[in-house]
Amino acid sequence: MMADLAQVVVDVPTMQTNQPYTYLIPDRLVEIAQAGMRVIVPFGSGHREVQGFIVGKSPQTEYDGELKPISAVMDLNPVVNSELLQLSHWMAETTYAFWITCLYTMLPNLLKAKSQRMVRIIDELSESDQMALFGNQDELDFSKVQHDPETVHKLSQLQRDKKIEFVYQVNDRARVKTVTAIKASLSFEQYEDELQGIAKNAKAQHQLILYLQTLGDQVVALKEAQATTGLSSATFNLGQSRGWLTKVQQEVYRDPFLQISVAQKQTLTLNSEQKVAVDTIDQAIEQSIAQTFLLQGVTGSGKTEVYLRVIQTALDQGKTALMLVPEISLTPQIVGRVRSRFGDQVAVLHSGLSNGERYDEWRRISRGVAKVVVGTRSAIFAPLENIGVIIMDEEHEGSYKQDESPRYHAREVAKWRSDFHHAPLVLGSATPSLESRARAEAGLYQRLVLSKRANQQALPPIEIVDMRPEVQKKGETNFSQRLLSALHARLERHEQSVLLLNRRGFSSFVMCRDCGYVLKCPNCDISLTLHMDSHSMKCHYCGHEESIPNRCPQCQSRRISYYGTGTEKVTAELGELLPNARIIRMDVDTTRRKGMHQKLLDRFGNHEADILLGTQMIAKGLDYPNVTLVGVLNADTGLDLPDFRAAERSFDLLTQVSGRAGRANKAGQVIIQTFNPDNYVIQLVKEHDYERFFATEMNLRKLAAYPPYYYTVRIMGSHPDEKEVAKAMFEIRQQLDQVTDSRTIFLGPTPRAIARLKNCYYYQIIIKYRLDQKLHSLLSQIMHEAQSKYSRDLQISIDPDPQYFI
Ligand code: ADP
Ligand code: ZN
Ligand code: ZN
Repeated sequence: MMADLAQVVVDVPTMQTNQPYTYLIPDRLVEIAQAGMRVIVPFGSGHREVQGFIVGKSPQTEYDGELKPISAVMDLNPVVNSELLQLSHWMAETTYAFWITCLYTMLPNLLKAKSQRMVRIIDELSESDQMALFGNQDELDFSKVQHDPETVHKLSQLQRDKKIEFVYQVNDRARVKTVTAIKASLSFEQYEDELQGIAKNAKAQHQLILYLQTLGDQVVALKEAQATTGLSSATFNLGQSRGWLTKVQQEVYRDPFLQISVAQKQTLTLNSEQKVAVDTIDQAIEQSIAQTFLLQGVTGSGKTEVYLRVIQTALDQGKTALMLVPEISLTPQIVGRVRSRFGDQVAVLHSGLSNGERYDEWRRISRGVAKVVVGTRSAIFAPLENIGVIIMDEEHEGSYKQDESPRYHAREVAKWRSDFHHAPLVLGSATPSLESRARAEAGLYQRLVLSKRANQQALPPIEIVDMRPEVQKKGETNFSQRLLSALHARLERHEQSVLLLNRRGFSSFVMCRDCGYVLKCPNCDISLTLHMDSHSMKCHYCGHEESIPNRCPQCQSRRISYYGTGTEKVTAELGELLPNARIIRMDVDTTRRKGMHQKLLDRFGNHEADILLGTQMIAKGLDYPNVTLVGVLNADTGLDLPDFRAAERSFDLLTQVSGRAGRANKAGQVIIQTFNPDNYVIQLVKEHDYERFFATEMNLRKLAAYPPYYYTVRIMGSHPDEKEVAKAMFEIRQQLDQVTDSRTIFLGPTPRAIARLKNCYYYQIIIKYRLDQKLHSLLSQIMHEAQSKYSRDLQISIDPDPQYFI
């Protein structure tokens, strides 16, 4: 007997493997089962049913009695196309993740485990099909029939004939949104006959038929038809029962970005540097070359305009375009600009979408309706075909790396897809990651430079204010005299200011002024953060919440109070210093509600406030012509974090926020307050000298053997019992020592900086290497073995190129 075989990656928690199992495809499913579909298969000796993905198919010549057949298909179409299937395999290999996890990562939530899979009628069925499959319903739950190959076969045929469609839904709210529409069922002549049979006084019916005669093949929303004719819905129902018209469900896509203010369309004349960049990238698009470009352009140099032009080129070539942004909330204006240029062809994917909205966008992309995708990290898996160009804005941002499995970096995935599609990849930044800048230095990436601002203005001058004498003079304050008078001047000139309160690695915690006691989370090893809005202390890691103490738990002193600066406190201080200023405060608290972020920015954009005061979330992407002053209240926090990227991140943040000033025709000014005025990061920010920062920092990295000179991997272990995790991690260290290259450097195992979190202890080993032939397969082995070797509570994760070390 001949049968087709399917290779299936199964989903069995605690027993994951990247090795597919082979199953028989039953005859009835041969034409249906395809790679990229989810299936249900028997697994193990108990014939337990588990979910899996078909990752490949092969014919077989001789029947092997040992093989089990696939029990059912879960989808009628592949949910992952062949490109993404290959990509998922590569990702599993390179990020030490399970293949099944990578596959799920690529899908919108609605297509993951718990969604309902419905089959819905979209065109008239034969009476026998209607009755046999649907009865008098117009949809059915696929999970109820998936084990019946006969039915599945029939449904698959109906789908190919476009009589039914397959949709995924979580609950009613997330359903594909449809409206009822009508179409004419009869020909013009048939309607003439019908008219003869109607009573003279049945005016409404008369009118309905005359209207239907005008429709031809058009499908018209019922609402619209009613509005046009003035006829009631009862008349349309009657028309339906008489067989004059058919009602159909017409899909409407939810539009998640209607609320984004859409900018004006404008055609700018490119300056000479922009032109060189656009021409060079265009050439690579036209010739299908998978070159990576590093578009290094100072803030306000018009990188976005370059992106828009090359996207246009891709579209002109009949191709599609993919553009990643670090976080929609950080770059609120960019989406608007892409939308205003490319309209409905744009799909937007980001974490703020509801499951239904995300699914809608995903479908528009996979059906080829949306040709331009803008989105955050996971949008890199958008099922676009025929990609002409991939763009990564702010390529240095840490949020492009996922910090849970699969621990992929979107830049590496972008490179893979760029190779697959023979399409150029454009990495844009004012402060490129050292890794990317170094690759450009080595000739692997082609560097394109925008050295000047698009508005012909110089970059705003940056002034450093030493806060030490200020505090000596005036006591604890957040505002130097210099900054205050600059703010004053803006108020008088009706110009706007942006103030950054840097809270990176920093929080408001409660400390006893007598004994130094700091209130900590009972589950985790970190201090609790004060939240004035809920009047409580919260742990940012596990969510533990308790009331604000009024006595020190250790020494009973009443001199326990909060320490550190929150935006709320600074806003209050500023309000006292400048009573006439209208201030908008922007931080996690004021933007928690959906849409608030955009609302606050819109208010600021409309000049309903003079000062925008906020945390990191205001540092990037804002482009407001009336902003002429940027102040950084505290440049220091973040400089001293125990992380080798701390300087790079500070340089980036300070450069970015400085770039918000003077972007249009008014000159800008920047004032940075610091307790470390001589620090090289601060000094080079002041000089606008990324290149010297790059050279200086590269030296330090070389000395300390860090990226980009070395690759890093972090192995992390956790367990509720500290002894258990320590023991396992020392074993792993021994295993590594025996096999790997002698030049490879190991640090640890050591308890992590935050050693205890959610009642688990964390130990880490950091590996630094340049070339190590055996390391990769050894790490894969460690990851797979960990499932069976250790107790269930012991979690081992392997993170290639970790972004954070604390
Ligand atoms: P970046 O992304 O590099 O920070 P933007 O693309 O936001 O810079 O451009 C900054 C401002 O300059 C925007 O307001 C943009 O409309 C404008 N701009 C860009 N290119 C040109 C140009 N060639 N001529 C005039 N204005 C331009
Ligand atoms: Zn105390
Ligand atoms: Zn906690």
